[in-house]
Amino acid sequence: MTEKSLIDEQFENIRENYSYICSRIEEAAKLSGRTKSDIRFMAVTKTVQPVLINSALSLGIDLIGENKVQELLLKKDLIRPADVEKHLIGHLQSNKVRKIVGEVSMIESVDSESIAQEISKQSANAGLITDILLEVNIGEEDAKTGFRANELAESAEYISGLSGIRVRGLMAVPPVCEKAGEVRRYFDLVRNLYDKLGNGSWDTLSLGMSADYYEAILSGSTLVRIGSALFGQRRY
Ligand SMILES: *Cc1c(COP(=O)(O)O)cnc(C)c1O
Repeated sequence: MTEKSLIDEQFENIRENYSYICSRIEEAAKLSGRTKSDIRFMAVTKTVQPVLINSALSLGIDLIGENKVQELLLKKDLIRPADVEKHLIGHLQSNKVRKIVGEVSMIESVDSESIAQEISKQSANAGLITDILLEVNIGEEDAKTGFRANELAESAEYISGLSGIRVRGLMAVPPVCEKAGEVRRYFDLVRNLYDKLGNGSWDTLSLGMSADYYEAILSGSTLVRIGSALFGQRRY
């Protein structure tokens, strides 16, 4: 197949995938007493080439998420529309903070007080306030970063006091679960922390990926992060 027709075929797949995901989102939103406009859709674009990202954006998707600062900065000039909203969703190292502040409208993966401090400092230096989410390690997994549930209240209070940051809510990636019903337990735990600690002042609960966005919405997610269900299996 020529490169052109391969791209056309991939675009057709993305279009069909998006349409299917939208109908599932609408159904789950209804079941949770909301409408599809209450749920923000993020296309997770890690490893995806800009031409296909732009295909997705031509369907009306208006938010993309990248895991790595380097990859985000390399691709951003090739993305159309150039002003599409971008979030960072992967672990951030302190020496990369200066590069990412001002490049994304939200950092969803704030996983320690020290990285929050650095984001606040670099934002203040740039004359900005950066919106962030606190990442919760809800399964208490050693391989994952993020705040443990029992330390979240204290850290949220401290971080909310930093002048260069605005805390908007929580993000989590639950452990891999065998049964779809099992993952609801983790999502519900995050939802409870969100209600309790946010106390009505937060507006973003980022839960749900390709395998579990439906369950996440039932638990109250307001933002789903979808990669492979939209673009197909990632090739690293
Ligand atoms: C890769 C990634 C996603 C998307 O994963 P899929 O299962 O492909 O939808 C969502 N959130 C984070 C934090 C990720 O790293």
